[in-house]
Amino acid sequence: MYVVGTAGHVDHGKSTLVEALTGIDPDRLREEKARGMTIDLGFAWLTLPGGNEVSIVDVPGHERFVNNMLAGVGGIDLALLVVAADESVMPQTREHLAILDLLGVGRGLVAITKSDLVEEDWLTLVESEIEDVLAGTTLDGAPIVAVSAMTGDGLPELKELMARLLEETPSKPDLGRPRLPVDRSFTMAGFGTVVTGTLIDGRLAVGESVELVVSGRKARVRGLQTHRTKLEEALPGTRVAANLSGVAHEEVSRGDVMATGGWLTPATALDVRLRVLDDAPHPLRHNMFVTVHSGSSEVIGRLRLLDSQTAVPGATAWAQLKLNTPVAVVKGDHVVIRSNQTTLGGGEVADPHARRHRRNHRPILQRLDSMLEGSSREVLLRTIESSEPAEFQALINRANLEPEAAAADLREMAEEGEVVFVGSRAIGPGVLIYTSAGWEETVGNAADFLDAYHRRYPLRTGAPKEELRSRLRMSPQTFNDILPMLEARGTLVEEGTLIRSSGHEPTATEEQRAAIDDYVRQLEADPFSPPTDAALDPELLNLLEGENRVVRVSDTIVFTTSAYERMVSSIRTYLEENGEITVADVRDMFGASRKYALPLMDYLDHQRVTRRIGDARVLR
Ligand code: GDP
Repeated sequence: MYVVGTAGHVDHGKSTLVEALTGIDPDRLREEKARGMTIDLGFAWLTLPGGNEVSIVDVPGHERFVNNMLAGVGGIDLALLVVAADESVMPQTREHLAILDLLGVGRGLVAITKSDLVEEDWLTLVESEIEDVLAGTTLDGAPIVAVSAMTGDGLPELKELMARLLEETPSKPDLGRPRLPVDRSFTMAGFGTVVTGTLIDGRLAVGESVELVVSGRKARVRGLQTHRTKLEEALPGTRVAANLSGVAHEEVSRGDVMATGGWLTPATALDVRLRVLDDAPHPLRHNMFVTVHSGSSEVIGRLRLLDSQTAVPGATAWAQLKLNTPVAVVKGDHVVIRSNQTTLGGGEVADPHARRHRRNHRPILQRLDSMLEGSSREVLLRTIESSEPAEFQALINRANLEPEAAAADLREMAEEGEVVFVGSRAIGPGVLIYTSAGWEETVGNAADFLDAYHRRYPLRTGAPKEELRSRLRMSPQTFNDILPMLEARGTLVEEGTLIRSSGHEPTATEEQRAAIDDYVRQLEADPFSPPTDAALDPELLNLLEGENRVVRVSDTIVFTTSAYERMVSSIRTYLEENGEITVADVRDMFGASRKYALPLMDYLDHQRVTRRIGDARVLR
């Protein structure tokens, strides 16, 4: 199913033409009827010769309602530009055409209406004037037919032409990420909340949970209709009326986007390749405020020019739109910017979740160029680069690519060494992806961290894992996936809770060795009652302990390993013969005071050599 959108100056006969084509009066609002002017969007539908059913969105032509026009032409497949024969090209003919051009609407036709009011040779003049204004736009060379809603002249030809153009129009893609920019929200007796819009990028079925972005409100699809016919599932590219439960109609408004849960994140900074209209009234200035139209939404934002200070009429420039209010936009969407009720320009979104950029910075501008011009592989690479490691689902949402094709691209890129997958899972949701350069940088950071750590603490066997994790700013999950990869690369070795460079061994200076030897000699002088005031640098003591030359049974009591082992063996023998032992027995056995016997026995309990029962210990 296809959607046709009208365009053209006020009073040029758009609504009359739509009614003549469809039998449906698109001017639904009472005020519009009374004023005889289209203010808001109107909707109608018809079946074309050949059987294609099309929806028609009829837009207002008045300059005060260009915002409503913009809300209507978002998802259209074909533009029907209407020019009255008696008036020919007028300001909103040009403005609407410019908007269609900025939105990238590449298919269209022109109806010269009210042909009954003029002579044949006048029509020829109008036709050539229209050809002139179309030149250079996306509708350059579009077919033109003269019609009259009064006499019916030209209407069959117009329908034939629409049918032919739509037969050549590819269907809207199904990316598995349905979204519907809401153009109306109202309540219907017996149904409750109904929202309407053109569904794009995916299918939507009755019963599905949906979210309204930006508000975050959740709802459920209770029913779907297109052209007053009930549907179980709506396909991308159809005009849809969705009956929602769980949300009041006042809680939804034009500009909201209804999407299935979770994937569509509100955006506040859009990188856009901006084209300034030739007839924009003045150059665009860096940091000026503009109204930004995207989908059916309209918000205020600041225009940050990234490669110039001003952008003159007719120029193309990279810009970041910093929005005051978030909008639901994806890569590849088109925006239009206006100010003081005048359309200034617009363009395609290269990145809807952009960072703040340095201005006039070549690498950034090149990156943006390849986001728009590059192959899908390049787009993937540039998107990963901007936040590594990138999670698969978030990546394809941000790059706005179809999941299966993107997964195939990524597999190929991994084989060719352009990207690196984290963990061993098959490519899909949850998998993290680095560019090779990004991965090398992470490896380098880990190596640098360990080098610095070992230099700072040469006596320590390794660094706590947690310190590297926080240095790399990773989630525990990601870090756990990455450690084995770093180990496989030979960057580090894991030892319990520590990590170290593969070549690292704790080393003490000669002076430190002398201090250690002196300390050990003091312990050996009275092996079962070693001095508790013998001082040794805690780092050196750790080293000694790591080398298994001493056993630290409490904060103050340290035995040489040989003394400790002798004591343990005597205690074991005693227990084997006597069944149990008390602290007093231990004291007597080694001629050591309670000060030593008590911590020793606690330590042995802790080491699971003994078990305490009352005042005595038994073997475990
Ligand atoms: P819109 O603002 O572009 O939607 O214009 P309307 O459809 O409201 O038409 C504006 C006026 O032009 C109305 O008074 C119509 O009756 C009149 N009109 C529309 N189409 C024709 C036509 O083919 N021939 C003549 N003579 N008048 C027309």
